[in-house]
Amino acid sequence: MSEASMVRYEKPTENIARVVMARADKHNAINPQMIFEINDAFNKALYDDQVKVIILAADGRNFSAGHDITETVEQYQAAIQAQPNKVGTWSGFQESETHGWYAAEKEGYLETARRWRNLSKPTICAVQGKCIAGALIFPWVCDLIIAARSAQFSDPVVDFGVSGVEWLAHPWELGHRKAKEFLFTADSWSADEAWRLGMVNHVVDNEELENFTLEMAKKIAKKPAFALKLAKEAVNKTQDIQGQANAIDAAFSLHHLCHTQNFRQFGWGMDPTNTPSLANVPKKTK
Ligand code: ZN
Repeated sequence: MSEASMVRYEKPTENIARVVMARADKHNAINPQMIFEINDAFNKALYDDQVKVIILAADGRNFSAGHDITETVEQYQAAIQAQPNKVGTWSGFQESETHGWYAAEKEGYLETARRWRNLSKPTICAVQGKCIAGALIFPWVCDLIIAARSAQFSDPVVDFGVSGVEWLAHPWELGHRKAKEFLFTADSWSADEAWRLGMVNHVVDNEELENFTLEMAKKIAKKPAFALKLAKEAVNKTQDIQGQANAIDAAFSLHHLCHTQNFRQFGWGMDPTNTPSLANVPKKTK
């Protein structure tokens, strides 16, 4: 947790904030430090009344490789415990097995994602390269998604013995039938396919991503701030009334049923036997 900052805060214009994941050497792998630095940066943009639109972007070739699975369960849990500005209401982050892991993921993934989804200002996510599993949470909680042609989206966690990432918005983002295919096959889908399914607003050439996203933000930033906030709230409330929040909570419980099964079988929350890339990942040590 003593690493240098993993997130950069920029203001390309006085009305626009850009929050940039700056861990390109690790393909912007997500750990608690990054999550809470993003949360802090979002708060900075949220409470700056000059800022009307917030961009979330990432340095490097890939948007994000997903959760940083080179960290042990204990490291993750201790990092959550150490955060001074938690967003949720849970506790017991360093308890053993299901108790602690449920608490830590609820704080680190579910409650942070929900908070970001409900930020009162319009958010735009710019995605290039790979966006894998836990990384999907970031564009999905934003209001608009601009994808570079290089973007590729996947959630291969069924291979790890888990039912889907912690924020199971797949049916809302892809439609129910394609959501099942996405999960069952663990295939990686292109920017064009994501656009065809309505998950992505625009697909642009790779070198145009930053500029196109900024121009979109500028266009939105010319509108009245209160109307923008209420337009966002109106659409979010529609999804809430349709049951999105409850569905995501229910799916989070199923996600943890998988983790519990894996803890019993393998001693940690994922199945390493079916996924060669997990063979050398540090396991839960206690
Ligand atoms: Zn999990």
